[in-house]
Amino acid sequence: MENMASIVAIGAAGLLGLYILSLLFGSFRQQARLARHYEEQSTLFRARAESLLKVRAEEIEKTQNTWSGFRKFEVAEKINEIPDCHSIYLKPHDGRPLPPFEPGQFLTFKFLVPDHTGDVIRCYSLSDAPGRDYYRITVKKVPPPRGKPEIPPGLSSTFVNEVLNKGDIIDVRAPNGGFYLKRQHRRPVVLIGGGVGITPVLSMLNYICEHEPDRETWFFFGAPNKSQHIMKAHLRQIAADNPNVRMNICYSDPTDDDVLGEDYDHHARVSVELFKKLLPSNNFEYYFCGPPPMMNSLDADLKAWGVPEADIHYEAFGPASVKKAPPPAPVDGATPAAGIAVTFAKSGKTIEWTPAIGTLLDLAEANGVDIASGCRAGSCGTCLTAVLDGEVGYATPPDAAIENGSCLACVGAPKGPVKIDA
Ligand SMILES: Cc1cc2nc3c(=O)[nH]c(=O)nc-3n(C[C@H](O)[C@H](O)[C@H](O)COP(=O)(O)OP(=O)(O)OC[C@H]3O[C@@H](n4cnc5c(N)ncnc54)[C@H](O)[C@@H]3O)c2cc1C
Repeated sequence: MENMASIVAIGAAGLLGLYILSLLFGSFRQQARLARHYEEQSTLFRARAESLLKVRAEEIEKTQNTWSGFRKFEVAEKINEIPDCHSIYLKPHDGRPLPPFEPGQFLTFKFLVPDHTGDVIRCYSLSDAPGRDYYRITVKKVPPPRGKPEIPPGLSSTFVNEVLNKGDIIDVRAPNGGFYLKRQHRRPVVLIGGGVGITPVLSMLNYICEHEPDRETWFFFGAPNKSQHIMKAHLRQIAADNPNVRMNICYSDPTDDDVLGEDYDHHARVSVELFKKLLPSNNFEYYFCGPPPMMNSLDADLKAWGVPEADIHYEAFGPASVKKAPPPAPVDGATPAAGIAVTFAKSGKTIEWTPAIGTLLDLAEANGVDIASGCRAGSCGTCLTAVLDGEVGYATPPDAAIENGSCLACVGAPKGPVKIDA
């Protein structure tokens, strides 16, 4: 009986010991878990605080170094990229620092083109990452419309490619635009450039490689073949140096000279069909810029694939290249009524506007009313005109700031009878 009692006592003591040990180890484990948790939290907090401080410092730098109106820049370098396409490196003539910009934004230029009366105002995207001591743009000469060789090629793109030289001084407005990489999102991205539309997404790509090397990035570039493969060597280098970047070069019309797997990766146009084959899911932020057919199909097909509108970002280089703007899409979601009276106060003309006419600028030009214009894409702000009565609407919010009581005639359409100061 005594033996039994002592066995029970020893067993109980052993169990108690094990229990205490397990409590001790358990609490060690728990403490270790807690310590890990606090460390992770403080690393996260530090990263967030650092990134907020960086953003704040950039904001201050931007405010200190930005400028209003036009500033003189010198052409520091002019590099031929592909036939009829040059990169222009610009340095401020006053030697003062450059403000940072968001990757994807553009500059607005005022050119004095020989044999052309009046200023030529055009926008060109910054094609390199921010943070350099120069700004870079890359401009492709726009040929005459197909089948109309009698019409001269694009004014400013010909000037930049054929006349502008190293050492020339030009007028430039500060970086602007709402199409830019959402830097703080850190979500995986798909960047897509078609032809010279590569410029804004190249700025984003260069930025990601330098500052967000862990951000999953799929890059698609579309061109007919090697002859139009802008920045070929640079893109290849990026792909080699950055494991987070998946480079996909698409040639729609390769020549016998083009080598699959070497010059290009896909004999295809850039399309959502291709994304479905390559991307692990549709869960990305998409940024694209290129010719209108590519943009239209990507926009529609991404939505049809279930990509939320908030994840689709694009930049159109504007209807300047087609001269006549397409009629604006329904204003504020409603189809505009036909036959709206537009009064041009200074010219003393009242003219019926219908959607088929296009924008207020198209209406003015077709009826001999003078409104100064530049990009014809709502980007440069040259056509800002006071609205004296009524309301003007936009198919999509324009990039340029619209002062209270004014409108951007190049992308605006009347919502009802309007009177504008032109
Ligand atoms: C935000 C933004 C960013 C941009 N970024 C870039 C960029 O990075 N790189 C780039 O290369 N471009 C870019 N562009 C496009 C650029 O701004 C110009 O639109 C483009 O260079 C064409 O301008 P242009 O003066 O050469 O052509 P325009 O003189 O405007 O001519 C355009 C077309 O009209 C034709 N044309 C001329 N006269 C007539 C006529 N009487 N009748 C019919 N047709 C006529 C011309 O032959 C030409 O085909 C961007 C545009 C925007 C809005």
